[in-house]
Amino acid sequence: MEICSLASGSGGNCTFVSSGGTNILIDAGISLRCIKSALRSLNKSMEDISAILITHEHSDHTKALRMISKYYNTPVFATSGAKTVISYYYPELSGAIGSFEAGDGLNVGSFDIHSFPTPHDASSVGFRINDSEKSFFIATDMGFVTKNIYRNSLGADFAMIESNHDIEMLMSGPYPYYLKQRILSEKGHLSNADCARLVSALAKEGTRRFLLAHLSKENNTPSLAYNEVSRALEENGFSVGNDVYLDVAPGDDMTARYII
Ligand SMILES: [Zn+2]
Ligand SMILES: [Zn+2]
Repeated sequence: MEICSLASGSGGNCTFVSSGGTNILIDAGISLRCIKSALRSLNKSMEDISAILITHEHSDHTKALRMISKYYNTPVFATSGAKTVISYYYPELSGAIGSFEAGDGLNVGSFDIHSFPTPHDASSVGFRINDSEKSFFIATDMGFVTKNIYRNSLGADFAMIESNHDIEMLMSGPYPYYLKQRILSEKGHLSNADCARLVSALAKEGTRRFLLAHLSKENNTPSLAYNEVSRALEENGFSVGNDVYLDVAPGDDMTARYII
């Protein structure tokens, strides 16, 4: 299985996953032009994409949908709640989006996909994506790690997990109080500290590759996120770079590529 983060963060999210000739995108939160250019760097085009799975309706996950539905027939799937919101703002998209409920399974070509709800101020889900050999877990935009999210993450070969903010940087930063409260709430975003706890727990259960995702530009830095998670792993007896691999998904104009 090949996993490429095409963009990650509040500026836009899009992840390419490929196996056995099936290519899918998780989210389409950057411009169509950027998606096409990132795909080109992987020797792929929009015509090669079998389906687009949307985690939720926020624009940093859906930005390209209007243009994609205008120029391509790529099947798009979102939760019924997310579809309702997207269709309210863009009625022309209502016929182009297939819906599912959080917890449903989806089959797309080589992939067996399971969705699970994530606590966020939207109809949000994460995905566990399996091919015949490997298993990929992706969860961003979550205020905290529910038991169900944890259950769905167990045993993944590769886990892409939100590491949105450094709590101190957020608290002392320029965001207005209500926005800080929103991010810190149970329906907000996952902090580096909470991400570090999940990564350590998963490493103990056998997951060996982690990609930190959806970093805030204002309230985090790649090195703060990396260091906090890396420190937690080392405290739990893992040697980062030797028995556990940790990386930070680049922001909006770089592709990070992994083969599992
Ligand atoms: Zn969101
Ligand atoms: Zn987001």
